[in-house]
Amino acid sequence: MTLGRTIGKFGSFVFKCVAIIVLFIVAMMMFGTGSALWIVLGIVCILIDAAIIFFGMLKPTQCPECKKFFALKEMDTEAVGSENISMKVETNDYGRNGEVVGRHEQYIPGKRITYKRNYICKKCGATSSSSFSRDKETV
Ligand SMILES: [Zn+2]
Repeated sequence: MTLGRTIGKFGSFVFKCVAIIVLFIVAMMMFGTGSALWIVLGIVCILIDAAIIFFGMLKPTQCPECKKFFALKEMDTEAVGSENISMKVETNDYGRNGEVVGRHEQYIPGKRITYKRNYICKKCGATSSSSFSRDKETV
């Protein structure tokens, strides 16, 4: 595993944790005010928390065979395909003195690489895989 990927994974984990904590605090404050509207919003926040925890953190660790959570061990990741795409990037517009005067969108050629990540279940030994894609500039 490369360092960049480790940081990326850790970053998204931290992001999810922060999102959950923020929503939870918001929900608690909403309950604290006691008005019906805020309580409804508080419940919505807690539901969003539950969805982030379940789909973002628990579901990826669930074995499709024995349905146990925290069972999957990552084995390897392989690139299984790529297609040419055009990527939207934002570029700064610079003024006479080099200051940023605006931004504009631009399309550049890129590649969308599809990866397959293989897992083995620590509990029952079943193998499974998930796929994801990353966009990469080719210029
Ligand atoms: Zn299993």
